[in-house]
Amino acid sequence: MLKGVGASAGIGIGNVLVLEDISLEYTPHEVTDTAAETTRFKDAVDRFIKNTEKQAKKLLETTGEKEARILEGHISMINDPYMQSEIEKQIASGTCAEEALENMCNMFIGVFSAADDDFTRQRAADVRDVKAGVLGELLGVKEIDLSEVPADTVLVTRELTPSMTAGIKKENIAGIITETGGKTSHSAILARALEIPAVLSVPDISEHFKNEDKVIVDGTAGNIILNPDKKTLAEYTAMRETFIAEKNALEVFRGKKTLNADGKEYELFCNIGKPEDAVKAVECDGEGVGLFRTEFLFMDRTSLPNEEEQFEAYKKAAIILKGKPLIIRTLDIGGDKEIEYLGLEKEENPFMGYRAIRYCIDNKELFKTQIRAILRASVYGDVRIMFPLVTCIDEVRQGKRIVEECKAELKLQGKGYNNDIKVGIMTETAAAAVIADLLAKECDFFSIGTNDLTGYTMSCDRGNDKVSYLYSHFQPAVLRMIEKIIKSANEQGIPVGMCGEAAADPMLIPILISFGLTEFSVSPVSTLKVRKEIAKWTKEKADEITAHVMSLKTQGEVAEYLKTQI
Ligand code: PEP
Ligand code: MG
Repeated sequence: MLKGVGASAGIGIGNVLVLEDISLEYTPHEVTDTAAETTRFKDAVDRFIKNTEKQAKKLLETTGEKEARILEGHISMINDPYMQSEIEKQIASGTCAEEALENMCNMFIGVFSAADDDFTRQRAADVRDVKAGVLGELLGVKEIDLSEVPADTVLVTRELTPSMTAGIKKENIAGIITETGGKTSHSAILARALEIPAVLSVPDISEHFKNEDKVIVDGTAGNIILNPDKKTLAEYTAMRETFIAEKNALEVFRGKKTLNADGKEYELFCNIGKPEDAVKAVECDGEGVGLFRTEFLFMDRTSLPNEEEQFEAYKKAAIILKGKPLIIRTLDIGGDKEIEYLGLEKEENPFMGYRAIRYCIDNKELFKTQIRAILRASVYGDVRIMFPLVTCIDEVRQGKRIVEECKAELKLQGKGYNNDIKVGIMTETAAAAVIADLLAKECDFFSIGTNDLTGYTMSCDRGNDKVSYLYSHFQPAVLRMIEKIIKSANEQGIPVGMCGEAAADPMLIPILISFGLTEFSVSPVSTLKVRKEIAKWTKEKADEITAHVMSLKTQGEVAEYLKTQI
């Protein structure tokens, strides 16, 4: 079995078609008739633009607007006056068009590849596509045509480019395997948009695959099985059928409200880690974002993001969500989330230590920078602030005081913000659950973080195998904590969501309905599934199940009983 990055879910079974890279080799040479060479370059650019426009149109019809926009971006790139004039200058000094184009593109590729963020690094792939396209025109080499491939083809290629997929007959492509690209690469975006199972970043494809090999592509797990035996083939064929049937059944819930069987409405939000993930939340039919984990903006870099950078990131998510709620959680570092450049001391007990809201209150300037950025972004949508790891009233009051200070500063600077911005907390510690009635009076909303709440309630570290048997949201202690939080919020009349992984557990959903949860926040891919699960339950049935669950004494009994009810 080969391992890669599962970038587009589903199981594909078919025959390998290895797409060889077309040769774009040329011999650099000096030109004397520079005017003719400039015309040759301009003609090639014209042809490239015309072809790309055609492909963008096709892609718009077959795949989607976002994918077509990638190609429109390629046109803007080659039309860039700086890029064109620099290439023409090189040609004027005697460099052949191919080499001048390559020099300029390679310069941009180098700059973009060195960037810190994924988004800018992705621009390097765009320049590579543009370079290959225009070089192809200059050399008269045509790209592979994917409109003619036979049924059940599994494409094996170095990279899947938008222009390759423009003419693709997607019903004939069973799967995609590439050598490069991660979850956010173009190959991944395109495969997901085409709904073709894909595994990316598989090293040395030319060594592993040859045409006509039978292959299974498990895009959900990121596995590839070459020349499977009969038993494996039968297993995966059954898995593929189940996947397709489940997916089709979920489509009925797209574009619908989230209602239980009595017609009571719930909010169904998504959890995100980067502003661009908001696109996925919208695509997956999320009704907003219930948790934006901002720590990812602080990771994989060498210094703190400044106010401007953070403002742009939060604003971007708000704009993508077009007025749908965006709950931004302030920096939640420490514990299992390390940020090296902050130089935090190693602690004996990091999960109990200097982290999240505790760290932020103590590092006020860092905290204020983030709060100001969030406040400024609140002009662009329904942005809300959420503090992590709260354990006592003082933390909420201090956090809210800092929000007010930031508002006053922005006012003085003449910068806009929503004065009525909602401020809520993650209820994810045992202490917060126990004083939820007191906290509810000081907060605009709660969101239950079961990932931490389970660990803190059971006093167990889920990374430690020896105590992992304790880590379950079906533990009676955890269920009572959840019940207390929800009831306290309901009594105070504030919304209460759940953004821990447990929110998407079908076995927990009837209990959450019975307790009175008002919002679910789940990973985007779980959205339709959770909407379907919520629709199954009347309050009466959920109450009946919950009454029995709350009479049980062990997590094993709870889990066993719930299995019989789902
Ligand atoms: C949680 O603790 O449940 C939660 C959603 O936060 P995180 O997983 O980021 O700690
Ligand atoms: Mg947490």
